[in-house]
Amino acid sequence: MSTSTPSRLCTMCPSPGTQFCPKCQTAYCSQTCYKDDWPLHKLLCKTFSSFSATTRPHPFCVRALYFSETETRPRFFWQTYTCPDTETFAFALPPMLTDTTDVTRTSRILRSDILHRPLPKCIQFGFRVRSVDGGKKEMYGQHPASFSKIDKELVEHGRGPMFALATYRHEGKEKVERPADLDMADFRYVVDRFRYCYDRDVEVAADGVAGEKVHGVRVNCVGDQVVFSRPEFEPTLVNLVTGPLESMTILHGPEKLGLPYVFGTYENRLSWRGRHFGGMSAESNCSRGWLTSGAFDECVTDPETQKWSMATSMGNGSIFVVRKDKVPLLGPHVQALVEYLEKKMIEFGTTVHEQREEDEVRLSEYLEILSKEDFVRWYGEWVEKHQSARPELVELPSPYGG
Ligand SMILES: [Zn+2]
Ligand SMILES: [Zn+2]
Repeated sequence: MSTSTPSRLCTMCPSPGTQFCPKCQTAYCSQTCYKDDWPLHKLLCKTFSSFSATTRPHPFCVRALYFSETETRPRFFWQTYTCPDTETFAFALPPMLTDTTDVTRTSRILRSDILHRPLPKCIQFGFRVRSVDGGKKEMYGQHPASFSKIDKELVEHGRGPMFALATYRHEGKEKVERPADLDMADFRYVVDRFRYCYDRDVEVAADGVAGEKVHGVRVNCVGDQVVFSRPEFEPTLVNLVTGPLESMTILHGPEKLGLPYVFGTYENRLSWRGRHFGGMSAESNCSRGWLTSGAFDECVTDPETQKWSMATSMGNGSIFVVRKDKVPLLGPHVQALVEYLEKKMIEFGTTVHEQREEDEVRLSEYLEILSKEDFVRWYGEWVEKHQSARPELVELPSPYGG
């Protein structure tokens, strides 16, 4: 068993899983991640042992998860399947469903949207689904009480009954797919998926509000920095109802580089992908500090770990960056820019708190060391450095177009 397989990574973050829950053997990197998972984990950890492989009632069944409309917590169950020959199999419908009207296995996921990594198994979800106007499909059913101990917002959003089951996929010479057991780490991934869909739908609903929309880049805040050490740069549709571009903050660094970027903040701050960071979600967005370049005392990079942290609170959660000319903006451009400005600001020296007037002097001195030529050269090197891991970078136009 290789230690680098996804199942041996920490359930909660990208670090290797070196510690294990004494009851169910779920992997974590630290007590901190174990504690972070605990409010969810505790709901099923005890009963997991009564669903061990040795208690499997017959060979043609796998451990699956059930989220009832009426029961107050989720539970495992044995999902049976038929196996007409060695190549194929077919899942039955979950045995506890007395009414199977419109129950369908709809979506399948192979990646964690929260941890940005492949899942050890392919997870499939089942709901009651019906067609609505315009040929679209929607989930329907009662709000699942089984979510009440997991996430109150998901009770309102979800429609029971819901279930999750898994298959293994061996991508060898031929693709072979077989039914697989869901375990306690998968329980986290399943709930993460529900939460991810909830956050996405909330955003889509916000986009439905009338107003001009511009394609921008969202830079996530403390959550990404805690989990990945760095922020993520994701596409976002900015509704200009939040304020006209003219009133948004000019970014001195980008302006000096000839990039007409402005930034804004989200009115409704979402918890970071369903995980709460001790009330910190509205703070610690270093990217804002690097971009505005007026914040000399705010951003600190640990030279050892390259982790970002904030010297003081900036009072901001996720931010979005858009171009003043409303041309769609691409995530990698903002990421490269932020990393460039970080490097320049470290070169300049930025850790001492200064009086306001002195800040202004220092800002103009700092802006002196930024130039478009230097950034263009640096951007070329940045793409070269990252292109083996991210081939899509090669296809991108330069931040200046063309
Ligand atoms: Zn961890
Ligand atoms: Zn456990």
